Amino acid sequence: MNITESLLGWYAQNKRPLPWRETREPYKVWLSEVILQQTRVAQGTDYYHRFVLAFPDVQSLASASEQEVLKLWQGLGYYSRARNMHHSAKEIVEKHNGIFPSSAAGLKKLKGIGDYTAAAIASICFEEPTAVLDGNVARVISRLYAVDTAVDSNSGKSILTDFANSLLDVDQSGTFNQAMMELGALVCSPRTPACYTCPLAFGCEALKQNKTGDFPVKTPKKVATVRYMNYLVISFVQNGEELVLMRKRTGKDIWKNLYDFPCIETENSIETNDLLVLCEKQDAFFGLPYVVKQVSPEYIHQLSHRRLLAKFIKVELDGIPAISSSLVAVTKEKIADLPLPRLIDRYLANLI
Ligand code: SF4
Repeated sequence: MNITESLLGWYAQNKRPLPWRETREPYKVWLSEVILQQTRVAQGTDYYHRFVLAFPDVQSLASASEQEVLKLWQGLGYYSRARNMHHSAKEIVEKHNGIFPSSAAGLKKLKGIGDYTAAAIASICFEEPTAVLDGNVARVISRLYAVDTAVDSNSGKSILTDFANSLLDVDQSGTFNQAMMELGALVCSPRTPACYTCPLAFGCEALKQNKTGDFPVKTPKKVATVRYMNYLVISFVQNGEELVLMRKRTGKDIWKNLYDFPCIETENSIETNDLLVLCEKQDAFFGLPYVVKQVSPEYIHQLSHRRLLAKFIKVELDGIPAISSSLVAVTKEKIADLPLPRLIDRYLANLI
């Protein structure tokens, strides 16, 4: 038995019964692939069901508002995935009559669909004979062939893709790709690969050299930059109702089109009194009298390349502020209806 046969035999016996494996509808396969790009299967499955229930097909996703899509995505992070998916759903409906392109090359023209997702959809839904290379597959292949080029470099990706394509069963490329990913997820795990149960152990170069821990080789990580976010949770009373100011994030920065509170970013951690001086200079309280009601402990929030250190200062205004168009005033109850970054969600959860 060769590596490909051994892998396919193992997959037939060991694959997990995941909901997106019961379909070859490109919309659902696409949805699952996008969700699972940065999310564990257990959490991703829950979101997958929610999405399919709310938007059962590409048409319903295309006709939703971005706010609805982001709200449903809340908690998954990497919100550009949801925005791109929404954008591409509209394009599929408007330019392709609601029919997905059936080749990896055609799929890659859609926003947010890169090499990996295109190959996954094209092979699983349309049996295009093309190998996928996600993190799991890269790990398996790099160990199988003891590839010492960094898997996250262009040359590394190209070497690994060539190896994966050389193993591909062209008559069942979708199954082969899913089998490779499943082996990476269940057996050839990052820290402690279960080589003693691995169906490919007989051909694994890293195991032969007793060096499974040396692969995959990766480019050293850049040190994450730190941002100091001083959030102003500003409330005031209007017509007998307590309202809170929220800010819609726009521009080229994290969390585009999600809502957080007005924020003053500083280069370093800042004392509350110094921050209030800064707030007054920047007219953050609209020239109105105010009372500081609470200062939160520091929240640490890790993003892929940044670490956010956030403080929340609750302030009550005495008067009604003249707010700009970037801000909205909502009741406390309505805040939860807005698409919120996980950091803001964490803060609000601690208030209850
Ligand atoms: S033998 Fe071990 S290192 Fe090699 S592919 Fe299998 S699990 Fe991974």
